[in-house]
Amino acid sequence: MSYSVTLIPGDGIGPELADATTHVLESTGIVFDWDVQQAGEATIATEGTPLPDRVLDSIRANGVAIKGPITTPVGTGFRSVNVALRLTLELYANLRPARSMTGVESRYTDVDLIIVRENTEDLYAGIEHRVGPDAAESIKIITRAASQRIARYAFEYAVKNGRRKVTAVHKANIMKLSDGLFLESCGQVAAEYEGRVQFEDRIVDNMCMQLVQKPDLYDVLVLPNLYGDIVSDLAAGLVGGLGVAPGANIGDTAAVFEPVHGSAPKYAGQNKANPTALMLSGALMLRHLGETDAAVAVEEAVRGVIAKGTTVTYDLGGSAGTREFGEAVAATVRQLG
Ligand code: NAD
Repeated sequence: MSYSVTLIPGDGIGPELADATTHVLESTGIVFDWDVQQAGEATIATEGTPLPDRVLDSIRANGVAIKGPITTPVGTGFRSVNVALRLTLELYANLRPARSMTGVESRYTDVDLIIVRENTEDLYAGIEHRVGPDAAESIKIITRAASQRIARYAFEYAVKNGRRKVTAVHKANIMKLSDGLFLESCGQVAAEYEGRVQFEDRIVDNMCMQLVQKPDLYDVLVLPNLYGDIVSDLAAGLVGGLGVAPGANIGDTAAVFEPVHGSAPKYAGQNKANPTALMLSGALMLRHLGETDAAVAVEEAVRGVIAKGTTVTYDLGGSAGTREFGEAVAATVRQLG
């Protein structure tokens, strides 16, 4: 049996990271049929758009995609490919785990957070306009349906992954109607999980301070789009930065797995960038496919090679290239298997 997966190598360092990652995923023994789809800078020149319809068709057909970072051109009028993918395919849940790793310098050694960000509405609905020459207005959309949907995703994730608590993050003391509706919706869903998963809420500013001071108090966080964007980067910072932060965008009919970092154009083609975030995104994809043993093997192999510290990339203090790190992780996966 093989899995058909859309593979979008992306821009900048993306293709090198994708090569190292597919090598590691294949070393688990699982067979993939990669449907390689170019998107981003190159296709603007050849097809007039960074996100041709064929890419969306491929993801719809396969249901699963893994994607390198894509450069968002400044000032050309193209909307971010990432935002377009999330909205077009209704990938409503943005999942970003943040877990400490031995060998990655950071403030704490025991952070283990799951950030669940609503991906389709809030201020990211993109409804804004100028009001005369000297004022502008952005509209924040919060619906019960989308808030309950993301809360349910967070609680289901908690149940399936043995997590103890979900914390809803909001600013309902000020935005009583919009964030108030988000919080109320989370509370309604929480009631269905009473006795199985604890529920609490935090105001977003307090949440940021507490995460910096006492991250061990928290487990799964569920947030509207804007707070989720900000707090997930804060959480990535707690475990060593964007270079090691994986992510997933999940909907009912499709899921796209991608690192949190960008295309780092200055390192493109130099066999230098760290593929950890894309590899860990690949591990999230394996879990999504139900291949839990393989996911654990990839995660443990990445963590093991980084903890050993002899074959790591420049950003982790080493001198290994993208390929050498990938080879070391793949060899460890084979040993674990
Ligand atoms: P970036 O993440 O590309 O780079 C920020 C810093 O981190 C740079 O110093 C870079 O060298 C370093 N870095 C990033 N990833 C690394 C890796 N894997 N290994 C080692 N070092 C790494 O952010 P940026 O410079 O703000 O953005 C560059 C481009 O990427 C922009 O066009 C932006 O729009 C795009 N971007 C895309 C995505 C995505 O596709 N999901 C996400 C963020 C940014």
